[in-house]
Amino acid sequence: MATQIPSSPKVGMVSLGCPKALVDSERILTQLRSDGYDLSADYAGADVVLVNTCGFLDSAKEESLDAIGEAMAENGRVIVTGCMGNEADVIMKRYPDVLAVTGAHQYEDVVTAVHAAAPAARGAFVDLVPEAGLKLTPRHYSYLKISEGCNHRCSFCIIPSLRGDLVSRRPDAILREAEKLVEAGTKELLVISQDTSAYGVDIRHQPRAWNGPNGQGREVRAHMTDLAAALGELKTSEGQGVWTRLHYVYPYPHVDKVIPLMAEGKITPYLDIPFQHAAPNVLKRMKRPANEAKVLQRVKSWRDICPDLTIRSTFVVGFPGETEDDFKYLLDWLEEAQLDRVGAFRFEPVEGAEANQLDGALPEEIKEERYQRIMEVTARISAAKLQAKVGRTLPVIIDDIGEPDEDGDIGATARSEADAPEIDGNVFLRNVSENLAVGDIIDATIEDADEHDLFGVAAS
Ligand code: SF4
Repeated sequence: MATQIPSSPKVGMVSLGCPKALVDSERILTQLRSDGYDLSADYAGADVVLVNTCGFLDSAKEESLDAIGEAMAENGRVIVTGCMGNEADVIMKRYPDVLAVTGAHQYEDVVTAVHAAAPAARGAFVDLVPEAGLKLTPRHYSYLKISEGCNHRCSFCIIPSLRGDLVSRRPDAILREAEKLVEAGTKELLVISQDTSAYGVDIRHQPRAWNGPNGQGREVRAHMTDLAAALGELKTSEGQGVWTRLHYVYPYPHVDKVIPLMAEGKITPYLDIPFQHAAPNVLKRMKRPANEAKVLQRVKSWRDICPDLTIRSTFVVGFPGETEDDFKYLLDWLEEAQLDRVGAFRFEPVEGAEANQLDGALPEEIKEERYQRIMEVTARISAAKLQAKVGRTLPVIIDDIGEPDEDGDIGATARSEADAPEIDGNVFLRNVSENLAVGDIIDATIEDADEHDLFGVAAS
């Protein structure tokens, strides 16, 4: 008699917010999949819909509420989780029929709520889960979350009140997850947290045993440098090195120690440091360390050690009390620092943030005008930096491969080590081989550049 396979309940997922929220969604789905649930690509096929919300800015909260409203209208059986889940009263007031609301990182609570709303079918045929869990990013790159929360109290940010103080994961657990991801096809690891440089402070950098790729076994401290060095040892099954990219790094002195790892090719020469501003007066009001002159010296010394280092950063313009002189100071600082990639934001008050109480709020026209000016400066710097790469041969990772055109030529979209997925530029390749695959890392010769992207051809 044929084995009866019970049909599995289906879960729909709407994931909003930052890469950290995306990692949460992946973890929740991985757990649900291992509990016997199937995924639904649309509202109609779902027995229950999970909405993973973002509550960072007021505009993000409104977007989250709209997403909940859409899921309620289209399906009606909705569970809310994520940062905005910490404001259950606001959600329940607007949508009283939501089945459950859980806060950020309450994985077990979300999973329990799904089990209550749509009990899982169990059995040997439905309990399978891919070795690396379920991913919402393409197979060849993966976010690797190393800690939650933050010990800083920047005046414009409510993340510490939403997510609490820093809680670091054990280094052995992070490395095991990274190994599984690499075994499953990941070629690029994107290390994320709220403050990557502070990793391990809360657990006093306690070391844990790790076997390592050669099975030699050793202890790895819960410290950014040690973790980066260990991640830099990982290799694909073909023996190729894995790109390791550090995001959300605070420029503490010990960051100096990861630069030699970049110069030696062990980790990707890329640092994402959200400086936010440079003028001491503004940094003070933001409650961020005001050591911008020292930072400039350090950026210079990092580049002396690793000339190919790419520094990406974000800045807030129009912060309360930012004078024209403060803003010009920031522009001058940027000219000096020559950062490779810059994102800018116009200051937006976030409900509950201390900065809202500061005097000196600026009119929207000034914020807009300063935003346009900073974008002009940073686009010019970026264009010059990219132009300097024309003629060089650089390793690139393939993200997408096009269809042949009428002449049979195939184009591909790739990224260099200077480009993080989603936030930086691309390297557009012409005439690639038909044997090329997404996730391949190849050498490309750069032929042209614009303000954000490079254009080239596979090196022969
Ligand atoms: S370091 Fe980042 S997460 Fe922490 S309080 Fe400041 S802005 Fe928020």
